[in-house]
Amino acid sequence: MKITDIEVYLTCLGRNYLFIKVLTDTPGLWGIGEGTLNGSEPIVASTIQHITPLLIGQDPQRIEDIWHLVYRQGYWRGGPIFMAALAAIDLALWDIKGKIANLPVYQLLGGRARDGVMCYSHAGGRDEQECEDNARKLIEQGFRAVRCQVGPYGGAGVIGELPPLHPEAPPTSLYEPTPYLLQVPKLFAHLRSKLGMEVELLHDVHEQLDPIQAARLAKEVEPYRLFYLEDPLMPEHRESWPLVRAASTTPLAIGEIFTSRWDCLPVFMNRWIDYIRIKPLHVGGLTEARKIMVLAEPFNVRSAFHGAADIGPVAQAASVALQITIPNFGIQEWTRFPEPVYDVIEGIPEMRQGFLYPTERPGLGIEIDTAKLQKYPYKRAFMPIVRRADGTMHVY
Ligand SMILES: [Mg+2]
Repeated sequence: MKITDIEVYLTCLGRNYLFIKVLTDTPGLWGIGEGTLNGSEPIVASTIQHITPLLIGQDPQRIEDIWHLVYRQGYWRGGPIFMAALAAIDLALWDIKGKIANLPVYQLLGGRARDGVMCYSHAGGRDEQECEDNARKLIEQGFRAVRCQVGPYGGAGVIGELPPLHPEAPPTSLYEPTPYLLQVPKLFAHLRSKLGMEVELLHDVHEQLDPIQAARLAKEVEPYRLFYLEDPLMPEHRESWPLVRAASTTPLAIGEIFTSRWDCLPVFMNRWIDYIRIKPLHVGGLTEARKIMVLAEPFNVRSAFHGAADIGPVAQAASVALQITIPNFGIQEWTRFPEPVYDVIEGIPEMRQGFLYPTERPGLGIEIDTAKLQKYPYKRAFMPIVRRADGTMHVY
């Protein structure tokens, strides 16, 4: 069996996604992959197109070999662009293998270790009361875990906004850590007093604090028993993780921008975190994500795969396929996709009562109506820009 071509689809289904189709010389057999990388999809797309000639003629069943061929071929390896491109190819190859075996991918990874994948979703709001109301709606839908934030991206730390200088550029948020640090403990005091101590609550700092501020926040939210505090620090502050770790017993999660086992291993070995936020999409696919979760196991690190709105349906299907099988599962982030996704894509993992269930269809179980994608062209988009009140770029 041979790979004959790779089709690349850049599309805006309410938000931007990058999908691929790996074609084979077996009639009717192809694999669907995803390389979405928020704000950088066209760069990943051109990477995949650039390396396609290396893959034509390869046997798509040799997943491990192709992974190393793609990883090693360029001398320049690793990083988010390249690993998202590799992930798209790897996911498509697992999809093909499942279709050949006539089994869902989770069966190829060892089969179910649990019945469903417990998820958390996002409750936001303009203030504490609106956040509580939105958390209650999710709890009523069956969610046992809710991520709670108030205000825009950056919470009360966002004290203003500057308009974009170009129609396609994003606005600039003005951020100050002090109002944010004062707000978050108050938010969780409110939520615990209204919702009780049992429901699992999470919070994402979005890497916007410096180490001593992050240590203070972890300590101040300790009485509210968070499931975890996410990204209190940039991963670049690796040497400062012990400071945050020693400040409290608040569980910590990091890793949604990690792209390899080498990013993860020091954090595991030093026992700085409790949950790892990787997902197959940005670490080179299922092949590498599975290895990373094996590395995490002896260090008591559990999975908490990143599943924000910028992680598309093929990538989420791969996350569910892996997380249903691993012993050190923790939780999965879930947000419902924009409506056009449901118009174009079939086989999205099913959400029931706060749990996701993998497909029983062969492979990753996803099919994309590629003809319909023409209705949804890609729109250039960027991540937010954040400056301090005095105009300095916020470098945390
Ligand atoms: Mg996050």
